[in-house]
Amino acid sequence: MTDIFRDRAANIFSGGGVDRAGLRRKDAEWIAECLSNPASRAVLVWRDRHLVAVGEDAAPVFLPVAEVLALAGPGAAPALLGLYGDGAVFCADISHIEDPCAHPALAGCGDFLDIRDVAALMGRAEAQMLAHARALLYWHRRHGFCGVCGAPTEAAEAGHVRVCTNGDCGIHHFPRTDPAVIMLVVDGARCLLGRRPGRDNRMYSTLAGFVEPGESLEEAVAREVMEETGVALNAVRYAHSQPWPFPANLMLGFYADAATTNIRLNPEELADARWFGRDEVRALMAARDRAEAERAGFALHLPRPISIARRLIGDWLDGKA
Ligand SMILES: [Zn+2]
Repeated sequence: MTDIFRDRAANIFSGGGVDRAGLRRKDAEWIAECLSNPASRAVLVWRDRHLVAVGEDAAPVFLPVAEVLALAGPGAAPALLGLYGDGAVFCADISHIEDPCAHPALAGCGDFLDIRDVAALMGRAEAQMLAHARALLYWHRRHGFCGVCGAPTEAAEAGHVRVCTNGDCGIHHFPRTDPAVIMLVVDGARCLLGRRPGRDNRMYSTLAGFVEPGESLEEAVAREVMEETGVALNAVRYAHSQPWPFPANLMLGFYADAATTNIRLNPEELADARWFGRDEVRALMAARDRAEAERAGFALHLPRPISIARRLIGDWLDGKA
């Protein structure tokens, strides 16, 4: 038994142990067998939302592959998420259906929900598969045409490649993930949190930003913190990561020590940033979301518990940074 996360628990949307079967996607015969295997199932994505049944817990609605193929319409190839349980799990986009809950095949099955609102109630593997489905189908929807020659593209390799249909081009396009760094900057017993612009936004969180082409992760961390707050860094340390398919990000979590502490706010990036003492942050952690924070009389709140931002803050409080 291997343990790639060692003593650190995986963040939500990862760590479910789903076998993505990456080496078998090119085997068209095997994919066809998986599609016709009665143990295989499929999940639906409708306009970035998943069909989920919610009670005390939440669970994706797994449907027979044939049913999903009928809903997805002619020419729609379901994408393989991996092997789970006794069969394969596929996903398909049904965004073309105006009101899917009113569709006779789906009436009473559940609701189409944002995975961020139900992931905490779901098994880890299920949340991981839905996050994978959302990211993959988002990419398919936006890559119907070749970025090189403009011809239509078509899905191949069980939905993990799109191939340009122009014979003179024929380029393969692969699913895109945008790396973003997210970091808790620490100065002894204080940490640096910022609030994004937005009239009604009261959430203070770790700083974050996209990695630019030709940039290392450490450099991206230092650049983003300097651009947003004017704080210089020492000792940038990788912590852990989280798939964040909203729409297509991979969040790479870091801790960093402040080399300077004077804040020079960039108003285009942040409405506010300041140093928070451990006790103040610990008090805010008692509220899981904005509603609980308001009931507790707090004027501000921290990110939601499923987020890597909250994890970075919580681990720092617990001395695990
Ligand atoms: Zn092309």
